[in-house]
Amino acid sequence: MSTMNIEKLRKSFGKTEVLRGIDLAVGDGEFVALVGPSGCGKSTLLRLIAGLEAASSGRLLIGDRDVTALAPKDRDVAMVFQNYALYPHMSVRANMGFSLRLRGVDKRSIEAEVARAASVLGLQDLLDRYPGQLSGGQRQRVATGRAIVRNPKLFLFDEPLSNLDAKLRVQMRTEIKALHQRLRNTMIYVTHDQIEAMTLADRIVVMQGGVIEQEGAPLDLYDRPANAFVGGFLGSPS
Ligand code: ADP
Ligand code: MG
Repeated sequence: MSTMNIEKLRKSFGKTEVLRGIDLAVGDGEFVALVGPSGCGKSTLLRLIAGLEAASSGRLLIGDRDVTALAPKDRDVAMVFQNYALYPHMSVRANMGFSLRLRGVDKRSIEAEVARAASVLGLQDLLDRYPGQLSGGQRQRVATGRAIVRNPKLFLFDEPLSNLDAKLRVQMRTEIKALHQRLRNTMIYVTHDQIEAMTLADRIVVMQGGVIEQEGAPLDLYDRPANAFVGGFLGSPS
């Protein structure tokens, strides 16, 4: 079964068409890495899926629901942003529970969900801290925790590790892999890092200039790039 279907999705800002007809189906539990050069439309695509931007045309289905016109809170989607976007004046606990509070979930259920997410991510001892008191890796975990408390059908990650140093990036990559194996959630994961895409993803989708250039299993793309662009992108060191 498909968790998500994108059909002929287009997005313009003024006269500039940033997404020029995207078709993509993502299966239940699948981990899809979305790669491509800066400015090709990756973040815009995620923002459209999350409902943070409206599509110019096309359709988006999550499960069997057409969510194209629904508000972000009514889509079964959670997004982890590149800059984490934590609320600096809120504790880790409050940051993680906030989206549930917005949705009117009762206090006890929020506590239970936050505790569950904290234990998955090893954040139990940090719940009373504030974002300013956390390391980069810990902030990344809190941002991820904020997404997983909601048990969404679909997780969107926008370059979640790009602000971390190389060593921590490798460690967090392992954690994200373990998280996916544990939760079996459906992931769309934007990254600049080919190694990350190759090691994490069931399928890699390569975008360029607002279209999907090629998609396939990591090794297939690596062995049989459809063109020089895809080959160059996957073959070059990060
Ligand atoms: P990527 O994430 O692949 O680097 P983006 O989706 O952020 O690319 O951006 C794609 C293009 O859309 C860029 O040229 C960017 O300048 C433009 N863009 C993104 N958001 C807006 C916006 N809100 N208004 C105008 N242009 C935008
Ligand atoms: Mg981006």
